Amino acid sequence: MMIVMSPQATPEQIDHVIARIQEEGFTPHRSDGKDHTVIGCVGHVNVDAVDPRQFELLPGVSQVVRISVPYKLSSRTFKPADTVIDAGRGVKIGGPEVVLMAGPCTIESRDQVEAIAPLVKAAGAKVMRGGAFKPRTSPYSFQGMGEEGLRFLHEAAARHGLLVVSEVMDRNQIGMMLEYVDILQVGARNMQNFDLLKELGRVDVPILLKRGLSATIEELLLAAEYICAGGNSQVILCERGIRTFERATRNTLDLTVLPLLREWTHLPVLVDPAHAAGIARIIPPLARAAIAAGADGVAVEVHLDPKAARSDPEQALLPGELASVVADARVLAAVTGRRLHARPGLEQTAEVVR
Ligand code: PEP
Ligand code: MN
Repeated sequence: MMIVMSPQATPEQIDHVIARIQEEGFTPHRSDGKDHTVIGCVGHVNVDAVDPRQFELLPGVSQVVRISVPYKLSSRTFKPADTVIDAGRGVKIGGPEVVLMAGPCTIESRDQVEAIAPLVKAAGAKVMRGGAFKPRTSPYSFQGMGEEGLRFLHEAAARHGLLVVSEVMDRNQIGMMLEYVDILQVGARNMQNFDLLKELGRVDVPILLKRGLSATIEELLLAAEYICAGGNSQVILCERGIRTFERATRNTLDLTVLPLLREWTHLPVLVDPAHAAGIARIIPPLARAAIAAGADGVAVEVHLDPKAARSDPEQALLPGELASVVADARVLAAVTGRRLHARPGLEQTAEVVR
């Protein structure tokens, strides 16, 4: 249920409504829009037993609306305007700019991230990625460098004015990671780690929430709802391919989520064509398609020597390939009324393509 206040509602009337819904057993979530305030009422154990008309009569209330979908705070009904997330250093996700995130799958050494950071920056990316805690399918695969790796990534990114995104696998890592990262990533395999999601609801940094390997769109939004319900509405959804019967690619990139999520939620949506395709050479057209279909950003992996990468070698782009992805993305962003800051012509000057 959500309570829409009238544009003329006074601060006292809003406070009074919040107090009343708390008395009734709801947790209130306030959203101050351009014209009016909306109060989302969630967390009631038996919502059907509550008569919404009692709130309609309170001073300053314009209307009471039941949200029919199971995700509430992440729904368009609750917040009709797009959420634009300020990730720091002027980087806004969900606004007119298409945001590019790039970096190695895994942080492998200080030299590696120091070498990649200027190329990521030059290509026009605003956020540098790199995993320090890796959710590997096999326990014998490289598990990541942990905190030391995060320090290397943070230092390399900071030297070039880039923000940092990295995956958090366990709630015990959150406090430590906040010293090094600007955006915490929840990996596909952890999309329904509910204790982790609850804990991420308590922090004040953006969360990049990747779609689970077999998660429906509704399940993705309910995972986002866990974070929003905890008090953190800075959630960036990320389509990264789902597992289907198709074996030609690592996963199947489901771009149908873009127009649907645009209708269903106010949260920004990113596309990661790398983990979807698992094949470097087909990433550029998929990135273009994602932007054409309305993605708020694209995340890709980049490596100076993809064959030697300690994880995901098949899907790592060379820096020159990254630059050409960005050049194309700029053109498409413009066609869709967005923009992407990049230096044109860099694809000719950066490292060779394969
Ligand atoms: C990643 O981005 O490093 C990653 C492991 O992706 P996913 O969780 O989508 O598999
Ligand atoms: Mn990877």
